[in-house]
Amino acid sequence: MSRNHSGERHPEPQPYAALRTKAIDSLLVEKGLISTDAIDARVQAYEQDIGPLNGAKVVARAWTDAEFKARLLADGTSVVGEMGFFGAQGAEIVALENTPEVHNVVVCTLCSCYPWPVLGLPPRWYKSDAFRARIVIEPRAVLREFGLTLGDSIEVRVWDSNSDIRYMVLPERPKGTDGLSEEELVPLVTRDSMIGVAKAESPTRAV
Ligand code: FE
Repeated sequence: MSRNHSGERHPEPQPYAALRTKAIDSLLVEKGLISTDAIDARVQAYEQDIGPLNGAKVVARAWTDAEFKARLLADGTSVVGEMGFFGAQGAEIVALENTPEVHNVVVCTLCSCYPWPVLGLPPRWYKSDAFRARIVIEPRAVLREFGLTLGDSIEVRVWDSNSDIRYMVLPERPKGTDGLSEEELVPLVTRDSMIGVAKAESPTRAV
């Protein structure tokens, strides 16, 4: 497991910021500048489309371009930035490669640190007390609950994201995808596979 992080690098959630956001939200709606539906749609886009799709593009390129993959593993932040993905919560992005021998999974044990530029907003379960506590203690059991059973010979590494470093997983390229182009590989890369609680989809399942 990666180093633990100190309380300093994990500021408590800011009640003031949350209240301010809520107040701005209410004002925008009240003034007719934006609808609550539009806000919901935007949040949903970040949760389900924009974020994970960015990461999927990074992974698909790494699967098809060895030089790109080497650079991604050496300096994730720069390489992700080159693709135009940066912004909030993108502090330092470190990509972890899954192999037949090693399976990586990411958590934030203290709050919900997550690489927004590549994965969007974290899913609800990622922020849950149960996931944050248990993935460290019994990763194999938790992964089984996600439907991912790993053989005993596979080493499981749990990485603790924090406000300085946000990890993303580079999942293994699925078998039977040799003939697929970078664009065709993108839909196989799920959000969960980049957190490490699932493998990338096989081509038959994704069609
Ligand atoms: Fe955190």
